[in-house]
Amino acid sequence: MKMIQDIAPHKYDNAFSGRKPELDDYVLLIHNNSALLINRDAKIQDGSFEIPMFSELAATVPDARERAVYLFSIDEKPYFLLEKKEEEEIVETGCLEWKGTQYFRMMEPMFQAFAAITATQVWRWRQSRKFCGHCGARTTDSKTERALVCPVCGQIEYPKISPAVIVAVTNGDKLLMSKYRGRAYRGYALIAGFVEIGETFEETVHREVMEEVGLKVKNVRYFKSQPWAFTDTEMIGFYAELDGDDAIRLQEDELAEAGWYTREEIPDDEVLISVGSEMKMHFKYGDDWMEKLGTVKGTGETLELRQSARA
Ligand SMILES: [Zn+2]
Repeated sequence: MKMIQDIAPHKYDNAFSGRKPELDDYVLLIHNNSALLINRDAKIQDGSFEIPMFSELAATVPDARERAVYLFSIDEKPYFLLEKKEEEEIVETGCLEWKGTQYFRMMEPMFQAFAAITATQVWRWRQSRKFCGHCGARTTDSKTERALVCPVCGQIEYPKISPAVIVAVTNGDKLLMSKYRGRAYRGYALIAGFVEIGETFEETVHREVMEEVGLKVKNVRYFKSQPWAFTDTEMIGFYAELDGDDAIRLQEDELAEAGWYTREEIPDDEVLISVGSEMKMHFKYGDDWMEKLGTVKGTGETLELRQSARA
């Protein structure tokens, strides 16, 4: 019942290193946002899939250790990224299977899910920066930092991390929640949107709330932030109070509905991996929301951002 990056007591270390893999290091072979995971007890049907070590991929990708790129360590155990080549044939064996981001949302233990989604973010960035955007030459790995460098013109490309705000707008004992139009996820969400050029986070909060529901807010207060690797985003969570008129004017191409909900009317979120879920539950139950919420489980909020609008 924690956000996906809250992996304590495990320790995440993202310091750059050019180190090479050992046989018992973890390898995330990624293709199309999916990772090749291993079911170490193949006799168990629908068993749980985990991140393999290089020794377990040796037969499938013989040159894996030469090609892999260091990602980060958790509890001093290194994780490497291996990008599947287009022409490479990977046979799913029953114990090795491609698993996508939907699987990562529920994968246990959670620190391994965090490792897998963070690896897919790095994969997407590397795939989109194979060539220099300035001169078109093929980029190479920097020897000194997590970056891709153009050997011809010197342009440096860093991992793509897009800041976005998520806002819990309150009106006395009520919280503003909305439902997105045309999305698979049918639950209630908070107002969210990407930071635009020339904006502070606080200005993004005011603009997004005005654009999506036509409301003014005041007392914008920072809550928590969260890396949301599913969409290459850094979510910055804020509380804000309604300022003046509470009549909602919906941006109808984006939202299907929005309204004010009392604490009793806010449904319990069942998977609490997002900062948006935490803010809703924090508003509903207060500081000890985690104890009050108890041991509810199931499917939870998907933080849906306007990826399509940006694409
Ligand atoms: Zn270049």
